[in-house]
Amino acid sequence: MAIDIMHGIQDGVAVVTGGGSGIGRQSSLRFAEAGAKVVVADIDEDGGHETIEMIESDGGEATFVRTDVTDSDDVAAMVQTALDEYGGLDFAHNNAGIADEGAHLADYDEAEWDRMIDVNLKGVWRCLKAEIPEMIERGGGAVVNTSSAAGVSANGSAHYAASKHGVIGLTRRAMVDYAEDGIRFNAVCPGVIDTPMVQQAGEDNAEELDRITAGIPAGRLGDPREVTSSSP
Ligand code: NAP
Repeated sequence: MAIDIMHGIQDGVAVVTGGGSGIGRQSSLRFAEAGAKVVVADIDEDGGHETIEMIESDGGEATFVRTDVTDSDDVAAMVQTALDEYGGLDFAHNNAGIADEGAHLADYDEAEWDRMIDVNLKGVWRCLKAEIPEMIERGGGAVVNTSSAAGVSANGSAHYAASKHGVIGLTRRAMVDYAEDGIRFNAVCPGVIDTPMVQQAGEDNAEELDRITAGIPAGRLGDPREVTSSSP
């Protein structure tokens, strides 16, 4: 049965990559709170299971599937889990990503470049490729891809910024390709958000995080809830 996306996400089915931590965890909780059934996908099994426990203790429904977004078979299995467990797929938050320590572009090697693009950009494409046919089957859907402020500015290291600019281009093109199929696509471009990714960076270089925080107009890091309140 196709759901009417104009009437919210209750009873829909969502997948969230990177759902075991930070923004993806918050997104998973938000989907469940709004009444969707959630497939939480992450490479981190402990984090993924913790998210499931949080959803279930709030009375929601969710399933964890270990997924590496650099592996097409894993991504196919993630979407298949939504079909097997909940009968279809309506929403996706393609969010899994990695960051780096911020070296200048001539200082990292080709393997580091490839890895960043493979997770942050090609990972989103792999997810879209698996998700879109199932949304077409349902008569529509909605997708949010996580880009970054580094996707619209010169923030972040070059390969991170390139991957996140790429997510915006991919999202725009997906919108054109599938508008007639009733699928909406958006990219979210968070600033610096207080998640394990940023906490780790702060442990590695506290001075740099203080400098970045001082440059934020609000004078503080963002909260993951400030990102996910704009999820579909
Ligand atoms: P996070 O707390 O590190 O969460 C990211 C999750 O994705 C982690 O559980 C991570 O597992 C997982 N992951 C990493 N590689 C993966 C892969 N190949 N396949 C599947 N899962 C994978 O980070 P976050 O801050 O919530 O970031 C989420 C997204 O927001 C990322 O795309 C990031 O670039 C973007 N973003 C973050 C900020 C920020 O300031 N936090 C700002 C703008 C954009 P491991 O922990 O095991 O690696």
